[in-house]
Order: sequence, then C-alpha cells, then structure tokens
Amino acid sequence: MNNIDTVKIFDPKDKLTFLHRQRETAKKRDSSERQIDFKEIYQDEENDNIQAQAGRCLDCGNPYCEWKCPLHNYIPNWLELAANDKFEEAAVLMHETNPLPEICGRVCPQDRLCEQACTINTGFGAVTIGAIEKNISDLALKNNWRPDLSAIEQTDKTVAIVGAGPAGLGCAELLVRHGVKAVVYDRYPEIGGLLTFGIPGFKLEKEVIQKRRVFLEDIGVEFKLNTEIGRDISIEELQNSYDSIFLGMGTYTSLDGGLEGLETEGVIKALDYLIGNVNFQQNYRMADASYTDMKAEKVIVLGGGDTAMDCVRSAVRQNATTVQCVYRKDEAAMPGSKQEVQNAKEEGVEFVYHLQPVAIENNNGKISGVRFHKTNAIDNTVEEVFIEADKVIIAFGFSASPASWFDSINLALNDKGLLKTSHSNQSDLPYLQATSVKGIYAGGDMVRGADLVVTAIAEGRQGAREILASFDILTA
Ligand code: FAD
Ligand code: SF4
Repeated sequence: MNNIDTVKIFDPKDKLTFLHRQRETAKKRDSSERQIDFKEIYQDEENDNIQAQAGRCLDCGNPYCEWKCPLHNYIPNWLELAANDKFEEAAVLMHETNPLPEICGRVCPQDRLCEQACTINTGFGAVTIGAIEKNISDLALKNNWRPDLSAIEQTDKTVAIVGAGPAGLGCAELLVRHGVKAVVYDRYPEIGGLLTFGIPGFKLEKEVIQKRRVFLEDIGVEFKLNTEIGRDISIEELQNSYDSIFLGMGTYTSLDGGLEGLETEGVIKALDYLIGNVNFQQNYRMADASYTDMKAEKVIVLGGGDTAMDCVRSAVRQNATTVQCVYRKDEAAMPGSKQEVQNAKEEGVEFVYHLQPVAIENNNGKISGVRFHKTNAIDNTVEEVFIEADKVIIAFGFSASPASWFDSINLALNDKGLLKTSHSNQSDLPYLQATSVKGIYAGGDMVRGADLVVTAIAEGRQGAREILASFDILTA
C-alpha cells in the first residue's frame, strides 16, 4: 500500500527497537491556529513514522494491551504487519475485531486502556497504539479498501437495530459479515450517535463518520435515518417484521445537580449545546436543536469530565470573551482524559478548582453569574464566591432515558432506569446482551450507563454474536 522504502530506517526483526527509538506522538496544530476552527488538532502521520513507531512493539509474548482493549484487538499482530510495511494486511486484521478502528484510534482514552497496559509503558513510553490504528485505517479508507465478503453465504435472517451509535454499528457490521441483513434505524439525519452529535469536530471530524457510513453501506448495512422508533414506527412493527432486534439507544437525560436558577435564560445543558453546534455547522436543520453562539460572552462550564472539556473548547472556538471550567474538587480528581484538559489549557481555558456551585444568579431574568461555596480544608468554614457569567453550561453527566414504549413490551429496567440484560431467554447460556424480552438484545450506554465508544462497540458485537447464536449461525 505504501511505497516508501522505510525498511532501511530500522530492522523490523529487531525486537529491541524501543531501546533506541523514542515514542513519538502525533504532532498537534499550533493552539493559535486550532482555536479558530473545529478541525482535528492532531496532524496525520507520515507512513514511515507509523512503520517505525509500530516497530517499537517488543512482541513481549504477554499482550496485556490486547486484554485491556475492550475489543481485544490483535494489537501486536497488526503492529508487526505495519512495521513490515504491510499496511493493507494490518487494516484487514484490525477490522476483524473493530468495525471503527479510525474512530477508536482518535477517541479512546488509550492512556487508561491499551497504551496503559503496554509492557514498555514503564520506562520507555508505550507504543502509540491509538495513533497507529487511526492512521492505518484512515489510509485503508482513503484507498477505498473494502473487505472481501464474497465467500459469505447470505441467510434469510433480518435484524432491526435501533440506534446508529457505536453499539448499533458494532452489531450491524458483525451481522452482515455473517450474511444477516442488518437494518439500522436512527432518529437523527446522520449515523454515529454521540460520535456525530456529541463529540466535537476538533476530536473527530464529521467527514470521518460519513466515510465510514459509505463503507458500511458498501458491505451491506442499510440505514433508515430520520426515523424514530416509538414515533415514526412502533416497536411492535419491528417485532413483526424482523427475526431479532438490537437496541443501542444511548443515555440522554442530563444531570443538573439540583442547582437553584437552572431555568434562568442563558443556562444550557452540555449536550444541547454540542448538538446545536453540530446541527448548525453541518446544516442538518434538526427542528429541536437550537444553536447557541458564545461569541463575546463570558462562559462558565460546570463539571470536569470529557463532556465539559468538549464544551469549553467549543466555546473558545466560538470566540467567547472568557471561558472558565469550574470544578468542585482538584485537577487530579477530574474524571476525564488528562490529555483533553491539557489541550483545553493550551487553547486558553481557565480552570478554577474547589468550588461547589450553589445557585445561578440573575439580573431581571438574565444570568449575572454563579454563586459557589468554597470549603476551607483546615477549619471547615464555608466561604461564598461569586463569578460573573453571561452563559452557563451544565456538564454534570447523564442518567438513563428509558423510552415510553419499554413498558408496553415489558422490557425490564434496573433501579437506575438502565435496560437490564444478561437474561437467558434463548437457551441456558448466559446471554450477556439479551433483554427480558425474547428476541430483543441491547448494549452500549443504555445498558452500561454513560461510558465509552469502545465499550459500546464491544457490547454491540457481543449482541450480534448472541443473535447469530440464536440463528444457529455462531456459538455465542
Ligand atoms: P449513542 O452514541 O448515544 O447512540 C445512540 C443512538 O440511538 C443515537 O444516534 C440516537 O439518535 C439513537 N436513538 C435513540 N433513541 C432512538 C429511537 N427511539 N429511535 C431511533 N433512534 C434512536 N467516549 C469515548 O470513548 N471517547 C470520547 O472522547 C468521548 N467523548 C464524549 C463526548 C461527549 C460530549 C459525550 C456526550 C460522550 C462522549 N463519549 C466519549 C462517550 C461515547 O460517545 C458514548 O459512550 C457512546 O457514543 C455510546 O454509544 P451508544 O451506541 O450506546 O449510544
Ligand atoms: Fe486501544 Fe481503543 Fe484501539 Fe482498543 S480500540 S486498541 S483500546 S485505541
């Protein structure tokens, strides 16, 4: 696939390359340049650098990276192929376990997954697994590579998938690879779920997802977009028309911390803000997505996770006057990716710690600022702190959002309102993604609670394996 003569740079058979070649992460665009657009901040790697970085894999024989990856990707195997300049073979192997490698390579928190577990992480710096996965898959898609599925025998089985997020896509891809017709329904005008309508373009450009949609369509996945189950089509219609159903509908109820003044004009939920922004930039014309421009506004984002980072960095790009991220604990306790906090700092976001928000204050109905409590660690006295703001974004996380029709078909929920799975309703086997209703499986955030792209994909694939087992095509 690539014709650069890089083999001379190093010997791919030398398993001690990591001793003399350092870990090199992808270069970032300068912060002054990236603050003014929503394009990705990391630059593409040169092929010879991908090859050389892949050659740093020690082939340790204990691929902890593989176990820590929720998809159990064959990481050392595709690193070896990449190190030997066999990029297309590496892409083929990647796709055996991951239907969205270029997306995981961009958004997985590698520092607590595969790269954290890499044997040479201590002392030498982990192999740049995520960046290599992204670049190899990007290259394969750029070259219009498609898997050879000609040997697959088509069956007469059909599965409806509700939700075109990572869980639904993970399920659909594995089904079509086994000759099962997969039809994916989504209420939004584009596939991806939160990949498209949550994660901003500076982490994941929308063209990447659009390219992946074309790939999935080419291998036989059918998408029915702008179609909401429960509004446009009933679940009973799907039950009557398909052999099985997989639900991957996500979690969309924003937590608000019960603050006073939440109804004040200028208070926005994080996801509403991010969805409105994508809708505006991509011109999707979604009726229920309103755009908020932070230009010349003083913005406070409450929360310290990845969603908060996406909001502060979006507000910077909209040319807000000031952007402050206010968190109730210290920086070390922030739950999101440390790398994203660093990126936000580079882009001019101010971080304020140890402030517990109490109320959003207003002047004649319009936000004037946020009142916080600051607790003195020595004598436990509480001090009131007020910070001025024109706009406040609430990014405290998400809770379950069960659809009204779950009850009508007796889908069991747990005490958090998440869908209960692990029912053995197909056989005596412990089916991990089977719901309480025979023939309906589920996975991703609606089962686990808000989590990660890669865990949603893993549950979608497990759901597909169980569906295939129920058709006697595979053992679960
Ligand atoms: P979703 O991605 O939410 O997809 C569900 C889909 O179901 C949606 O498209 C929705 O429209 C559709 N749907 C729902 N109900 C219906 C219905 N009745 N009819 C038809 N369609 C329906 N994870 C990471 O790993 N890395 C990150 O950097 C990261 N950043 C994030 C940033 C933000 C702002 C947010 C909110 C989340 C982030 N996450 C990140 C988490 C990650 O995006 C989710 O865990 C993942 O997308 C969950 O996948 P899913 O398929 O379960 O649900
Ligand atoms: Fe690492 Fe995520 Fe790729 Fe697995 S899918 S190898 S965790 S980047």
